[in-house]
Amino acid sequence: MKIIPLFFVLLFVFQAHTDCFAQTVDDLHKYYTRIAHKYLVKSKQIESHFSIDAKGIAMYASPADKKQNKPECMIYWDEIETYKNLVLSKDRREQLEYYKGKKTARFSKSERRRLANRFNDVYTPPQLRLAKTNGKKLQGYKIAIDPGHIAGTLDIAKVEHRFIEMNLNGTKVSFFEGDLTLTVATMLKEKLEKEGATVFLTRSKPNVTAYGNSFKHWRKTYLPEIMNELLAKKKLSKWERTRLIARARDTEIFHDYFLARDLEMRASLINAFNPNLTIVIHFNAAPQKKKWNLPVKENYNMTFMPGSFQSDDLSSPNERLDFLNLLVLANFDKSAKFSGNLIKEFTKQLNVPAIPTKNSIAYLNKVSILVSEGVYCRNLKLCRMVNSPLCYGESLYQDNEKEAMRIFEDKNKRMKQVAEAYFNAVVKYFQGK
Ligand SMILES: [Zn+2]
Repeated sequence: MKIIPLFFVLLFVFQAHTDCFAQTVDDLHKYYTRIAHKYLVKSKQIESHFSIDAKGIAMYASPADKKQNKPECMIYWDEIETYKNLVLSKDRREQLEYYKGKKTARFSKSERRRLANRFNDVYTPPQLRLAKTNGKKLQGYKIAIDPGHIAGTLDIAKVEHRFIEMNLNGTKVSFFEGDLTLTVATMLKEKLEKEGATVFLTRSKPNVTAYGNSFKHWRKTYLPEIMNELLAKKKLSKWERTRLIARARDTEIFHDYFLARDLEMRASLINAFNPNLTIVIHFNAAPQKKKWNLPVKENYNMTFMPGSFQSDDLSSPNERLDFLNLLVLANFDKSAKFSGNLIKEFTKQLNVPAIPTKNSIAYLNKVSILVSEGVYCRNLKLCRMVNSPLCYGESLYQDNEKEAMRIFEDKNKRMKQVAEAYFNAVVKYFQGK
């Protein structure tokens, strides 16, 4: 019987530090300093763009501005909740306006009123209270799922450079990542909804982008407008505009103009849904290969979460806004918790290990921060633009010889195991484990 009170004490301590935050200025100062250094700062240069002190959190446009104590945007400790609500309730354009205009001024009384308690997470929605009566484990929780890439057919998979095509002992093995991620996302959605969760998918049909239509449709509908804007800003010549609209290959348009905008669209759809958790589904492949279509012997899982800014990652106001938003929203401990659960579930359900802490992969060692085995902070576009706790699952090496054959022979069987891993990790996370 002694276990029960201790459990509640631990639960209270956990919630006090993750949800409501400790209340004194000294505690806030310590808490934000800890998370900034644990998750955000990959290289020392980053520290010349922000400070956390007894007054609050300040962002600086340059190291010189920091030396002269001239913040670009200062958030005082008693403004943290107001700023959080600003991020959660305004779109990026408005956030950037606030950011650029703030300097050392305080939010005005009317701004404070307008932004007060808009997304107060202490409030328990009726669905959550209902959970006690219907026994569903995820009742009332909102979960966003982003199935990585878009391809539902090989031609689009080739445009986005995400496909496997290899010869394994005389068998021509072929599949593509955009199909695998959507298969898992659909299976996972069904499982989560059965437990009462409300689930949002950034894309729900093969070949349909986050814009709600095909890439070809996007090219026809949006590209001319983008070209005109670039022309007006003198970032493009008239000749180049005509070439890109009429003659450029899909691959060029996809990688140079579509991809970043599609990710921004995914992020804004997720933020509008305002989920409790965001899951980004991808599959991995062996790094640094000379020939992409050669099978490999190794097979590992890894997960990414937000953080890990380095030297030139804070050179524009937009990037500094991302940094400040991530820091103030402070979802890092939650993302780390879920990512840790997920890597364990990947290992268990798929019988594939986490990437060993000692490895020679450049993107893990040079640009990421190790949080725990298989869990890394990495400053990917979706990681820095989504407001909720987030994990980017990179399970399996698709080009592992056994794995490729396994997926090719019975895709649904393997994807079901992947979906099971995600599902178990979500349930554990919301049970506070
Ligand atoms: Zn991917």
